[in-house]
Amino acid sequence: MSLLIKNIGELFDGYKIIKNTSIYIENGKIKSIGREEKADEIIDASNKFVMPGFVDCHTHAIFSGYRAFEIEWKIEGLSYKEIAERGGGIAYTVEQTRKASKEKLKKETMERVKEMIKHGTTTAEIKSGYGLDTENEIKMLEVINEIKNNASIDIVPTFLAHAVPKDMKADDFVDVIVEEMLPEIGERKLAKFCDVFCEVGYFNVEQSRKILMEAKKYGMLPKIHADEFSCMGCSKLAAELEAASADHLLMTSEKEMELLADAGVVATLLPATPF
Ligand SMILES: [Zn+2]
Repeated sequence: MSLLIKNIGELFDGYKIIKNTSIYIENGKIKSIGREEKADEIIDASNKFVMPGFVDCHTHAIFSGYRAFEIEWKIEGLSYKEIAERGGGIAYTVEQTRKASKEKLKKETMERVKEMIKHGTTTAEIKSGYGLDTENEIKMLEVINEIKNNASIDIVPTFLAHAVPKDMKADDFVDVIVEEMLPEIGERKLAKFCDVFCEVGYFNVEQSRKILMEAKKYGMLPKIHADEFSCMGCSKLAAELEAASADHLLMTSEKEMELLADAGVVATLLPATPF
C-alpha cells in the first residue's frame, strides 16, 4: 500500500519547514520527501500546511461530571486540598463517574476524542482512575478499549491508581488494586500502562512501588504522577523502575532530574495544571 501527498504548501518535518513539496509513504512509513512517485492513493494537499500529528501521552479524557466550577475557587486562592475539602476534586468526579452508565461514559469520551482529532491529535493515551473500585475501574477501561477499537486515531489505555476512596485506608486499597484489579486488567489485557498518583495524601513511595511492581508482572509498563505538590522520592522511584514516564515534576530536585535522565525516563511536563 503506497500513498502520495502532493501539492503541499508547507511541510514541517519535525525539524524545519520545506515549501512546495510532497511526501511518499509505503506501508505506513515515509520513504521520500520531494519525489512524486507512483502511488496507490494520492492526496492533493491543495497548498496547505502538513505536519506530524500530535501525541497526547497524558489525558484523563474519560470521566463524568465537569468541574469547571472549581475555576472560581482556584481564582479565590483555594489550594487543591481545600478544593477537595469543599466537595470538589477527584472525589466529585468519582461520584459522577460511578453513577454513569458505560453508554454515557462512551458518548461523553468520544466527544472529547473528536475534539482532540479536530486539533490535530493522532495518538492519545487515556487513563482510568475515577472509579476507585474494581467494578468501576474495569468499566472505565472497557469503555477506553471500545473507543480504541472504534476511533480513527490511536488510543492507548492506562490503568491509573488515582486516589484512595474516602471510606478506605491506603494500604487496604493497595491490596484491592494488587489482588483484584491488576489480575483482571492483566489477564484481559485492558491496559498498556499502569500509572500511580504518588503524592502526600494519595499513594506514598512504598505503596506506589508495590502497585507498579505488581503491574509489571502482567506486562504493564509503569508511569508515575510524580512531584506535583511535593518532592518525596517519586521521581527516584520512576528512575528505579525505569518507568516509561514521570509526569508533572513541578517540585523535582536537580538530583532527581539527573536520575530520571540517566534512567531514560521521559519527563512529561503539564504546565497548565498549576493554574
Ligand atoms: Zn494526570
